[in-house]
Amino acid sequence: MNITPIIGLEIHIQLNTKTKAFCSCSTDYFKSPPNTYTCPACLGLPGALPVPNRQIIKKGILFALSVNATIQKETHFDRKNYFYPDLPKGYQISQFYKPLIKDGLVKITVNEQEKEVRIAEAHLEEDAAKSIHQRGHTLVDFNKAGIPLLEIVSEPDIASSKEAKIYAQKIQQLVRYLDISDANIEEGSMRVEPTVNLKIKDNKKTYYTPLVEVKNIASLSAAAAAIDYEIERQTDEFRKTKQEKNPKNKTTRGWDMDTKKTFLQREKEGSADYRYFPEPDIPHFSISDDFIDSLQKTLPELPDAKMARYQKELTLSIYDSSLLVEDKDLALSFEKALGEKPQKDFAKFTANLFLGVIKKHLNETQETIDIKRIKEKDFTYLFSATQNGDISSTVAKDVILEVYKTKKDPQSIIKTKGLSQISDTKELEKLAQQIIKDNPKAVEDCKKNPNSIGFLIGQLMKLSKGSANPQLAQEILKKLLG
Ligand SMILES: [Zn+2]
Repeated sequence: MNITPIIGLEIHIQLNTKTKAFCSCSTDYFKSPPNTYTCPACLGLPGALPVPNRQIIKKGILFALSVNATIQKETHFDRKNYFYPDLPKGYQISQFYKPLIKDGLVKITVNEQEKEVRIAEAHLEEDAAKSIHQRGHTLVDFNKAGIPLLEIVSEPDIASSKEAKIYAQKIQQLVRYLDISDANIEEGSMRVEPTVNLKIKDNKKTYYTPLVEVKNIASLSAAAAAIDYEIERQTDEFRKTKQEKNPKNKTTRGWDMDTKKTFLQREKEGSADYRYFPEPDIPHFSISDDFIDSLQKTLPELPDAKMARYQKELTLSIYDSSLLVEDKDLALSFEKALGEKPQKDFAKFTANLFLGVIKKHLNETQETIDIKRIKEKDFTYLFSATQNGDISSTVAKDVILEVYKTKKDPQSIIKTKGLSQISDTKELEKLAQQIIKDNPKAVEDCKKNPNSIGFLIGQLMKLSKGSANPQLAQEILKKLLG
């Protein structure tokens, strides 16, 4: 039996506009008291009319440009009809017949191989309100009703949970670079729903298992776990029945975080059930080439281009470049530290400080980088001090962390902590004599076996609190020991 998973992802991102998609209520609902940002339009009161927010169309187009997609210039909104207490109008304003975006492409790197994931379409829509189930009652908070979303639907080009996770991270990275969404899964501003089925070759016949869409996913690792669970479940089911069911019969399953299993929610649901029709309260609209051109000019340098530039201009490795561009603010801080037209050695040195010290510190503290604490002059100072032999590269690492944490300048940190490298021969001789006096046994060993000098050098470095120039120290010890 040969099994190939066929995986697609539907990703909702919340667009970071100031006001909602079709009314002027604030979108600042997170952590606000329930039902504080509502109006007749987003409460679905009779007679209230929606007005599209120009910003959602702008942000949608920016996304389209970043993934080389086709922008449908003649477009409109549609009504998606269904009943639920958190949907007072009885329909959601979405796009079905003419999504704003079609046929995009995202490149991901899986095991150092480049892979393309096609984007089938992406469309604008409004979010529903939030139901809160409490002690046998259901309460509804309308702050979230009408929050703008961009739903990005991939083609089923993904073959494993690992690829799915990398693709979702890539979308997250892109929308953050574009500054169109916070894309924070924990806070609900990004939601990931995988669709999974299998292509199975068995006894020269090919079967497809029915398509499953998984909902209620709260993190990227949950998405990966749900995909792996579905691959296993669908394989087992096929083994039992060995029968092909209609693969187009889509079922919706929920992800149970506690049991780490999916469970059936709805069967056989298709777009016909939603009775889509064009939204009569919003006119059809067209997008001009000038409008698209003006947005094209505002596109920032995107992660793929940044990575390629770091490799070419700064001769950094693929691995280092990818780590530096992972987070937009980290990349911008790195560029701030480099200044204009940096030398390659300086770029390599600075990259090492960012990846080996600053990023490590941020990971440990779960903080995001504060670009204001990054100053080019601190990095150039430490670089030349290392080049001159005034400090060791280990000291440079300790100092930059201290600079970042305390905002002090590197000169004063080196001075007050006495971190300058001792290259003064007389001073080193004094230290070496002390070490020889204190360690008679090691000195005897060393006379028999010159390779054991390492211990004495170690002692000397310790005595100098790491500030002795290790090469000079070795030379002087050798000389004194004859
Ligand atoms: Zn409103």
